[in-house]
Amino acid sequence: MTELTAKPKSAPKVSFVSLGCPKALVDSERIITRLRAEGYELTRAHDGADVVVVNTCGFLDSAKAESLDAIGKGLSENGRVIVTGCMGAEPEQIRERFPDVLSITGPQAYESVMQAVHAAVPPAHDPFLDLVPPQGVKLTPRHYAYLKISEGCSNRCSFCIIPKLRGDLVSRPAGDVLREAERLVKAGVKELLVISQDTSAYGVDLKYAESGFADRQVRAKFLDLARELGDLGAWVRLHYVYPYPHVDEVIQLMADGKILPYLDIPFQHASPSVLKAMKRPAHQEKTLDRIRSWKEAAPDLAIRSTFIVGFPGETEDDFQFLLDWLTEAKLDRVGCFKYEAVRGAPANALEGAVPEEVKTQRWNRFMQHQQAIADRLQRARVGRRVPVIIDEVGPTVSKGRTKWDAPEIDGVTYVASRRPLRVGEIVTVKIERAGAYDLHGVAVS
Ligand code: SF4
Repeated sequence: MTELTAKPKSAPKVSFVSLGCPKALVDSERIITRLRAEGYELTRAHDGADVVVVNTCGFLDSAKAESLDAIGKGLSENGRVIVTGCMGAEPEQIRERFPDVLSITGPQAYESVMQAVHAAVPPAHDPFLDLVPPQGVKLTPRHYAYLKISEGCSNRCSFCIIPKLRGDLVSRPAGDVLREAERLVKAGVKELLVISQDTSAYGVDLKYAESGFADRQVRAKFLDLARELGDLGAWVRLHYVYPYPHVDEVIQLMADGKILPYLDIPFQHASPSVLKAMKRPAHQEKTLDRIRSWKEAAPDLAIRSTFIVGFPGETEDDFQFLLDWLTEAKLDRVGCFKYEAVRGAPANALEGAVPEEVKTQRWNRFMQHQQAIADRLQRARVGRRVPVIIDEVGPTVSKGRTKWDAPEIDGVTYVASRRPLRVGEIVTVKIERAGAYDLHGVAVS
């Protein structure tokens, strides 16, 4: 009787700050799931928490500055701070400025983060508090989830320090990935966003080894994984794919409606000499032919990409080559960055730095050029009836996304509807108007 009436011990509180890219978000979700499973309570305020965990991003100098600010805020408002994530791979930068942080670990160091939390504030084990949904805790809304299929990267792009921070590619066995995906779908997730540093290289490190899932063996291979994911009944969206030859096989799954006709390929440039200096994986001169043949096989395919202008050694001819290439490639969604040196990246030693004003000029020309291309593609969608997944509901107009738009990085579709819509619902929408990025339409189902 005493046990039933005794006031439960209050759970230790952790204030968690998650910075960085979707890959870091997945790390945060895993740590938070473990914390919740062990009975820790998550709080938004540093003040009153027993400890603060900051999952940092260390890619660009601006992201590092944001991470350092977050650590400083944690220390001033709470005093007990555990640091993890990409920036934790270079602990001296953090220790120099904040010698009092409790511990610093690199990315994916889940066990070390948990040990540091245990040392700072031991778990109050209580089976009544330790409830965690079997699919884990997700920081993204319930209807979509990021699915990380591998860690690290075995490429060595000259502007990038991710392999140094995260190590070489380590793929998860296909069975593990599929079980996680299945749990998420059973818990109500309607869209799986497949992420990694190099999705198309999935399984290379495992020599495509088979592992068990349900009643069968599945190879750790990009095509096999995509096919199995496509059978789970949710939208499947592929991010960070490089145009290796075997990507052609996955296009057929898109044409068959198994996975979304969407490819996120960070091309970064088109000029062969710049790509060579960037040391990009899978770059080849026939990429435009490949894109054409993909669109023939899957006419609805949308390609999103990012580019860097002003890379060291980029000439006006290289840049013009890129603009002409964009005209031919007709990419749907494009982001562009001015080259920014990343501390520790080999590209810093390259000659031919492009002056800042030239970078800005090229960036403006790039954006204008691509805008005209994207406008034409957007307008071609007016009048079509397409499925839209609802992200946010409003009294008369809700916000959703077509299969051509990934959350957070692409455009949205504003959906007028007579009947109330639900978050996560997939509704047929007649597109009536197209803006530069967004679409507007009316629900017809
Ligand atoms: S593919 Fe290149 S840019 Fe991407 S993580 Fe690997 S090394 Fe970095």
